[in-house]
Amino acid sequence: MVPKVFINFRPEDRRDRDGYFFILSGPSGVGKNTLLSIVQSGLQGVYYMPSATTRAMRPGESQMHPYVFVTTEEFEAMIERGQFLEWKRIHTNDYYGTHLPSIQYAIAHGYDIITDMDVLGCADAIAAFPKHICSIFITPPSLDELSNRLHNRDADARNIEKRLQRVELEMAHKDHYDFTLVNDNLEQSARELQRIIEQVRSRVELKR
Ligand code: ADP
Ligand code: 5GP
Repeated sequence: MVPKVFINFRPEDRRDRDGYFFILSGPSGVGKNTLLSIVQSGLQGVYYMPSATTRAMRPGESQMHPYVFVTTEEFEAMIERGQFLEWKRIHTNDYYGTHLPSIQYAIAHGYDIITDMDVLGCADAIAAFPKHICSIFITPPSLDELSNRLHNRDADARNIEKRLQRVELEMAHKDHYDFTLVNDNLEQSARELQRIIEQVRSRVELKR
């Protein structure tokens, strides 16, 4: 079932400016979700925005963490109702999409949100909200290391192959991002990501 709200905002986290929308991109397996879960605990009032997807849940995942898992019929009904800022079919033809009403609400009401998206989805999001997005590209220290991480996470060779096939497309977009971060040492990368986010949140451009 599709949940009514994707994020429960707490009024005390509201800022006196528009909300920022942080987007992480980078090849699958580079560590986006791992970094997100680490920095989230150190960042008061930055909400993780789960995408909707039709892909199968992996061990350790649950509803809303890190995705809103829906059926193909539910996803297609959401497309019909205009509920996505953007949606894509990635890897094994599964759908992934960003919930537009949540983003509109967050930006208009002064809440900061963060999510991960493929490079094409991120370009669509920037076109829709050019002033509110901070884009951060995560790169692996090497392609061998990326392949190791994919193998450690998932034993299914077809899943891994599909993800490796997209690496070149993803990497080709990295220079279009506001920030680039190499995820080598996890602790160091998490600290750097947190520093970037804090720096952007302290800007005054979106002041009302
Ligand atoms: P993504 O969300 O980009 O697809 P994940 O966060 O699921 O990637 O990470 C893929 C795998 O790599 C996971 O098993 C994770 O524990 C591991 N990983 C993430 N960052 C690092 C790192 N800096 N060093 C070693 N392993 C990492
Ligand atoms: P997975 O989690 O299945 O390994 O990888 C999913 C890929 O889809 C990642 O590159 C992730 O960044 C991307 N992704 C996740 N959610 C969305 C979304 O809502 N829109 C788009 N365009 N890409 C997404």
